Amino acid sequence: MFEGYQVLRNAPMRDYTTLKLGGPADYMALPANGEEVAGLLKEARERDIPVTVLGHGSNVLVLDGGIRGLLIRMGRGMNRAEAQGRRIFARAGTMMGTVAALAAEKGLTGLEFASGIPGTVGGGVLMNAGAYGGEMSQTVTEVSGVMPDGRMATLSREELAFGYRKSALQENGMIVTGVTFELAEGDPETIRETMGEMNRRRAESQPLDVPSAGSAFKRPEGAYAAALIDQCGLKGYAVGGARVSPKHAGFLINTGESAADFLELMNTVQRIVEERTGIRLEPEIRILGEA
Ligand SMILES: Cc1cc2nc3c(=O)[nH]c(=O)nc-3n(C[C@H](O)[C@H](O)[C@H](O)COP(=O)(O)OP(=O)(O)OC[C@H]3O[C@@H](n4cnc5c(N)ncnc54)[C@H](O)[C@@H]3O)c2cc1C
Repeated sequence: MFEGYQVLRNAPMRDYTTLKLGGPADYMALPANGEEVAGLLKEARERDIPVTVLGHGSNVLVLDGGIRGLLIRMGRGMNRAEAQGRRIFARAGTMMGTVAALAAEKGLTGLEFASGIPGTVGGGVLMNAGAYGGEMSQTVTEVSGVMPDGRMATLSREELAFGYRKSALQENGMIVTGVTFELAEGDPETIRETMGEMNRRRAESQPLDVPSAGSAFKRPEGAYAAALIDQCGLKGYAVGGARVSPKHAGFLINTGESAADFLELMNTVQRIVEERTGIRLEPEIRILGEA
């Protein structure tokens, strides 16, 4: 099955996610380009095999049973970005930090916020990732990829229908293979300073040395998830090895081996915050696989 492609059998998801949790993916393919993505998708469809996509695994909780069928994770050839004038074209597996560094080198401003987000541009555009007042929607002009029916397509910014941590990609099933950014000219020194300052703030406030998937919940309207969780006395609260970070209550961290514990922690935090504040937190972390 999937002959001619780079494929790993029973790939343990704890090795491919920043939470370091999750059972095996039956088949994990590492396509080198968009044609390989389309070919893999076609074969999976013909055999009625479910398909899941993974970037850097920095915003997902993979459950303990792992992922059935085919997991497509952008391979080495998908990790490349180039600048042309004020535009940057990045393949989907390129880390956002790499693209932000390229922008800085070329004196292009608009991606400073992305330098500390530990994910790929594919995952970033699907999530409309953002920080410190910036988000992907501000500079992404076009996304190309493969639709569930195998057709290659390009979507404009309008078609991507960006919202807060939201895009049409969460609904339409496109596997993103490339992202085009349009940036403004800026001063390389200032761009680097801004990035440095943002990364200092991040290191000061976030538990970057322990496995997590970033903020576990979206920011509810008119409030902050971390403040609500803290207000409910949940800082440090644990279910097994899963714990509300004592450093930043918006981050749920993993010091154990059980995705079930992590999911229970997410559910418990959500329930207690709703009971005590009336606000229902919506998870930002996406849950993949089976229990
Ligand atoms: C320490 C830490 C700090 C973080 N800080 C921030 C922050 O400041 N702001 C922020 O927004 N996020 C933050 N995050 C969360 C995360 O880094 C972002 O959401 C990031 O954009 C996810 O990218 P990824 O490649 O890891 O995606 P993954 O976690 O691998 O996947 C996320 C979703 O995108 C889908 N996906 C991935 N690649 C593709 C593709 N090529 N085509 C189609 N679908 C795809 C997956 O199926 C999944 O549903 C943080 C995470 C950590 C661990």
